[in-house]
Formats: sequence, C-alpha cells, structure tokens
Amino acid sequence: MNPVFANLPTSIFEAMSMAAREQGAVNLGQGFPDFGWPEDVVAKAAAALTGAASQYPPMRGLPELRAAVAAHYSHHQSLSLTAEQVIVTSGATEAIAASLLALIAPGDEVVLFQPLYDAYLPLVLRAGGVPRLVRLTPPDWRITEAALAAAFSPNTRLVIFNNPHNPTARAFDAEELALLARFCIDHDAIAVSDEVWEHLLFDGRTHLPLSALPGMAERTVKIGSAGKIFSLTGWKVGWAVASPELAAQVARAHQFVTFTTPPNLQAAAAYGLGKDDAYFAEMRAMFQAARDRLRAAVEGEGYMVLPAEGTYFLNVDLAASGIAVDDMTFCTRAVAECGVAAIPVSAFYAEAPVANVVRLCFAKQPETIEKGVAGLAKARRLLGG
Ligand code: GLN
Repeated sequence: MNPVFANLPTSIFEAMSMAAREQGAVNLGQGFPDFGWPEDVVAKAAAALTGAASQYPPMRGLPELRAAVAAHYSHHQSLSLTAEQVIVTSGATEAIAASLLALIAPGDEVVLFQPLYDAYLPLVLRAGGVPRLVRLTPPDWRITEAALAAAFSPNTRLVIFNNPHNPTARAFDAEELALLARFCIDHDAIAVSDEVWEHLLFDGRTHLPLSALPGMAERTVKIGSAGKIFSLTGWKVGWAVASPELAAQVARAHQFVTFTTPPNLQAAAAYGLGKDDAYFAEMRAMFQAARDRLRAAVEGEGYMVLPAEGTYFLNVDLAASGIAVDDMTFCTRAVAECGVAAIPVSAFYAEAPVANVVRLCFAKQPETIEKGVAGLAKARRLLGG
C-alpha cells in the first residue's frame, strides 16, 4: 500500500454527507447547492446523450468546449487564450491531480496555503513533492510577505493557490496576488491556481485571475469547473488552462488519469459557458441572497460569523460565539444530536489546526436553511457557554 493514502481518513466532505444521510440531518456540510442550476444546460446534456456520439471524445476535450472555455475567459476576465491552451478534465480535482503529476519531480518543494482543500496535500505527496505550508488564520486569513518568505526557497517548484478560497470564503486582493506573483517569478515557480469559485463572488467583487498578472501567464495553470459555474457539482467537468507548453505537459498526465470526460456533459458545458452576462449576474445575486439569509439566521441564533466574500460558504467562529468545544466535537455532535451537518475547518489543516471555526454551506433553498439553522440553534443550546 502506498503510505500517502494508507492511513488517510475518508474525506471530511464524504464522511459528513454520509453521517447526514444516516441521521436524516440537514446537510450544510459538503459544498453542493440544492437549487440554482440552469435547466437549459441540463436539457442540452440530455439531448446530447441521446442525439450525439457517446464514444471517446478527443483526449484533450471536445473542440467546442475547449474553444468555449477560451472565449469565456476572454469575455469575462479579459484573458487572451486559444483553445489549444485548454485541457478538459473530469472535474477540477482531476485537473489538479494531472497538473501535479505532470509538473512536480520527486523532491521539488511545493508551497500550499492552510487551510487547504483536502485533496491538495495527498496529491502533492504522491507526486513526490515536499510540502511547505503557509498558515493562514482568522479572522482576516491574510497572505503576508513574511509568511511567503518563510515558505519559498531555492527548491520551490510549484505553488498551489486557491482563489476565491475554500473554506475561508476570502477573495484574496490585488496586493496579495501581486505579492504571490513576485515570489513565483523570483523563484521561477509554477502556480497551479484553483479558481473554481471565480463566478461566486459577492458584493460587487470581480475575480482577479492570477494568470493576468505580469509575468504569470506563462507560469500559471488556471483550474476551472463547470460543476461550480452551473451549480451541477456531480457532473465533474473541469479544465486546466495554461501556456501551450504547460498545457501539453498537463495533457501527458491527464491521458493516463481519466483520459476523457463524458462528451454529452462537455457539449452542455460548452453551451452554458456562452450564456449571456445576465445569467451570471442573476446566479451571483441568487447565491448572495442565500448567503445573506443564512448569515442573518445564524446571527439571530447568537453565532458570530466571519466575512464571506465568495464561494458557497459562511464560517462561524465558535469561540467568539461563546462555544468552548472544538470544531470537530461541535460538528460530530451537531450531526448526531441536532440534525445538521457542517464541516470543521480544522480538517483543512495538516498541522497546527485552527479548531474554532465551522464551515456552513449556504447554497440552499430557504427551507433547507431554516431547518439547518434550527439544528444549529439546538447545537448552541447543547454546547454553548
Ligand atoms: N468542494 C466541496 C466542498 O468543499 C467538496 C467536494 C468533495 O466532496 N470532494 O465542500
């Protein structure tokens, strides 16, 4: 057995969703919406399943989806891209896995930011990388020059960045991006930039792609996800976008990971990416309203919340809410005894965890939020001061 995977617990998202199903609890844990997907995109996928070919599509992706991804980012983020720079993958996680397998040689140092999405670290280790962790802490979760200086070294080969960031719900600002870009350039490092939440930004924020910064286009692999853009997380259609040279490298690994992705879903994603600006604005407004609804309701129950600038997530600070138990105890008891599943943020740390923050998914219908908050109110009565 490979030691990287041998002793890993089941992903916290899967574990909490399983517990929620077993207990009949409301699931505010794993990040998936229970509303808000575009029916026309689903209809396109259904039509393509019966009407078009279901045999292997090209390894790098359907030409129309590769072109649609390039056009989408040109339109929405002013990036200048060609279809050749896009590799379609089976979800963003596969894009990340293929990128790491392709770009890390054993012994290369890889800079990661904690809290980190749970897949990153095992994939870095399995690729032979040596992790160098930058620890971000609440309430501001800010990237500082001192922290980057401590993590980067002459052996740094790659950085995994995630913006907007899961689980903190932060959109890192232009100053932090410029800082990171400077360190990447000075150390001749590649950035794998997981930007799957790029359309889920609130309060008028616009997304800043790392590859748009001077000197970064040639050293960034930008990761995106149709599942997140269209609220269809089970589709597992993602992509990696990079310079033609880096994209070709990623494709070499991708061809032996999943090889291809279902063609009907690719065709539907290609169609969806061309939807007009109003669709994206309405989608954001809908999720922002859900965030506001959950925030008001949990605050009404006496919880202290942290800012939520993007993603599907809102974090509550247990300690500041007068709850003395750690996040894992809180979540374990909340799902077993109070009928609500949430995610302990300590699960996103490989070392020195922050253990007083719990992540809630707000991408839910009003009734789901109402039931979930009733569970959280019970948890506060049971576990609070
Ligand atoms: N991205 C989702 C989340 O953060 C989880 C995806 C998964 O379960 N692997 O909740």
